[in-house]
Amino acid sequence: MSESERHRIERVRREPRRRELVVEGILDLSRSMRRIVFRSDDLHDFESLGPDDHIKLFLPGEGSADGKPLMRDFTPRRFDTAAGVFELEFFLHDAGPATEWARQAGVGDRISIGGPRGSMVVADDFDWYLLAGDETALPAIARRMEELRDRVPVHCILLVEAPEDSFDMPQRDGAHVQWIYRAGRVGEDADLIGTAISTWELPEGDGFAFVAAEARASQGAREILAAKGQKEQWIKAAGYWSALAT
Ligand SMILES: Cc1cc2nc3c(=O)[nH]c(=O)nc-3n(C[C@H](O)[C@H](O)[C@H](O)COP(=O)(O)OP(=O)(O)OC[C@H]3O[C@@H](n4cnc5c(N)ncnc54)[C@H](O)[C@@H]3O)c2cc1C
Repeated sequence: MSESERHRIERVRREPRRRELVVEGILDLSRSMRRIVFRSDDLHDFESLGPDDHIKLFLPGEGSADGKPLMRDFTPRRFDTAAGVFELEFFLHDAGPATEWARQAGVGDRISIGGPRGSMVVADDFDWYLLAGDETALPAIARRMEELRDRVPVHCILLVEAPEDSFDMPQRDGAHVQWIYRAGRVGEDADLIGTAISTWELPEGDGFAFVAAEARASQGAREILAAKGQKEQWIKAAGYWSALAT
């Protein structure tokens, strides 16, 4: 295969459509991460090609002043279009309509989703992968761990509050999962993730790095990776939420 054919990153766009989901089951993966399993008759043409795709969750409530419905982004963690099953995993943080909805959800509750509007499909031909992030990134990281080819080296740096917030990530040969703990250091995610990435040795060969966390932490991680010599086009660093400016 020629050099230009390797490591292709393709963007796929699609028309989003709204789908209705009904809560079928609720499972707490840890004290702060809740998996909700939905059933839906609307999934026959649902498509999500990238493990870090996102759907819009349309939350009940009045919406914003400009008339837009209340929406939040979530990763389609697992779906089976034939069986009509769909799963999301919610990090239960202190406040917010999505957190509240997930805390109070009960079997039979209904909610709508839209999208994914697009996917970034990364060729699974890199020599290694770095997957890093906070609680909100765990669904996308777990999904990528399940979808990558067998035995490719994967290093995960996962930031949660405390050991009680960690849980079993998908098992795979060649994966090393490094949990790091915030332990009350609110507002220091950029330092915590940044230090873990700085002290990790970039392996030989071509690698792809995915980072998703609080916006400043993701941006900081991108800069550290670039300074370590990681090619910018092989870094995807996304802000999954924003801390209020202090
Ligand atoms: C592409 C993408 C995919 C995502 N996938 C997932 C997913 O699968 N699972 C998931 O749990 N989240 C995911 N997120 C993050 C999620 O969209 C945000 O955390 C969202 O703000 C939660 O909405 P909320 O209504 O609970 O809180 P909001 O109303 O948005 O926020 C309320 C307050 O809490 C703060 N806050 C928001 N999120 C967090 C947080 N994570 N930690 C601490 N404080 C926070 C805000 O700064 C604000 O002050 C994803 C985000 C993106 C962009």
